[in-house]
Amino acid sequence: MHGAQLDAIEREADARRHLLSPAEEMAKLGEESRPLLAYGEGIYVVDTRGRRLIDGPAGMWCTQVGYARQEIADAIAAQAMKLSYNSPWYTTNSPAAELAARIAEMTPGDLNRIFFTTGGSTAVDSALRFTEFYNNVLGRPDKKRIIVRKDGYHGSTNLTAACSGRAGNWPNFDIEQDRIVFISSPNMRLADGKSETEFLDHLVAEFQQTLEELGADTVAAFLAEPLLASGGVIIPPKGYHARIKALCEQHDIVYISDEVVTAFGRCGEWFASEKMFGVVPDIITFAKGVTSGYVPLGGLAISEKLLARVSGENAKGSYFTNGYTYTGHPVSCAAALANIAIMEKSNLLDHVRAMSEHFAAGLRSLADLPLVADVRSNGLVGCVECLADKTHVVADDFDRKIGARIDAICFDLGLIVRPIGHMCVLSPPLIITREEIDRMISILRQGILQAADELARGDISQI
Ligand code: PLP
Repeated sequence: MHGAQLDAIEREADARRHLLSPAEEMAKLGEESRPLLAYGEGIYVVDTRGRRLIDGPAGMWCTQVGYARQEIADAIAAQAMKLSYNSPWYTTNSPAAELAARIAEMTPGDLNRIFFTTGGSTAVDSALRFTEFYNNVLGRPDKKRIIVRKDGYHGSTNLTAACSGRAGNWPNFDIEQDRIVFISSPNMRLADGKSETEFLDHLVAEFQQTLEELGADTVAAFLAEPLLASGGVIIPPKGYHARIKALCEQHDIVYISDEVVTAFGRCGEWFASEKMFGVVPDIITFAKGVTSGYVPLGGLAISEKLLARVSGENAKGSYFTNGYTYTGHPVSCAAALANIAIMEKSNLLDHVRAMSEHFAAGLRSLADLPLVADVRSNGLVGCVECLADKTHVVADDFDRKIGARIDAICFDLGLIVRPIGHMCVLSPPLIITREEIDRMISILRQGILQAADELARGDISQI
């Protein structure tokens, strides 16, 4: 065994003994290391055992421009040497100011003021804390409730985890939910035979009824992803966001669009809310793709209309004291500027728009395979939902086991499929080519067919 191999084995042992990772299966703590990735190039990652894999989920929906981009590495190094840090509590820096101006150009409507955070959870947390601040300054301390959807995901701080409607994330945590109210997931598969328009009317009526029951003057915010990403790429009925936004406006409720996944090109636009989903929100949160995952950064864009009500003469001596040591971190902001420059120079948004139909057609070509209950996509994010019995609507543990098996087969064939239970979600780096999409779909096809064969032979057991 040569040095590099020995080193990799040692690092795996370190990981096994000393790392606690997100979504750790505690019963197996210390038994196995997760695949230890050594490096990335383009749309590929390579692990320490030399396995070269297409990065199907683009990390966690974030490596938009792919791995090993010299321009971003150079920008990070240059900024680290120039000014590695400044306190955002009493100074600011040039990359943060420039990035805020650039993002303000990309956001819809008058969402022109940017607050930077450390990632997606802190972006959503800050958006929610802003609405608290807003209503308290406006003298409305009872306007506090937050309406969210089942199947939504908004992060892993106390408050954002409580706003996340994926029940699998809750067991054994104390989730504060007094102020948080869940409404239905806008998932057509749960429409119970209704047409898209009927389902839309039903969802809007439910929102209206929720406001009546709670009293709209107790509701501060509606928080929603444009499409529910981790929930399984659930795309709401056409017109959903605009109809809900109209009710929010009527009742002075802040509409927060969580674009942590959908922004920075994932759906073919800088921001998807207006251009893809027909809504101009009051606040948009972003993270992930803003730096293509090279360094952590998140943020929110807030509308001038909202800010006017709690600033200047209306501020009543108040300070927006929410913030982080690393708010507007100069190195992260420099990385984001370099990332955006690459996206512009390579016309990446046009590329995503050009690829999205090919990607959608590829996914549709899997629709008739055994196990496949539904396929859906928008831009370069898609989901193939697999169920042992296609007539079922809700997945069970057995379906999740089959999902894990498909994932394992695809891994051996050279593709990472992010296993969200029974849902094979693909959101590749945005630089992916037509041929690479074909390769990705072809591996997923093989994975599904092999798992279906194993199931038919009884090799995947119920227990
Ligand atoms: N919001 C959405 C829609 C997300 O998908 C995620 C993460 O996947 C988050 C928020 C949390 O972001 P982070 O993990 O960067 O804190």
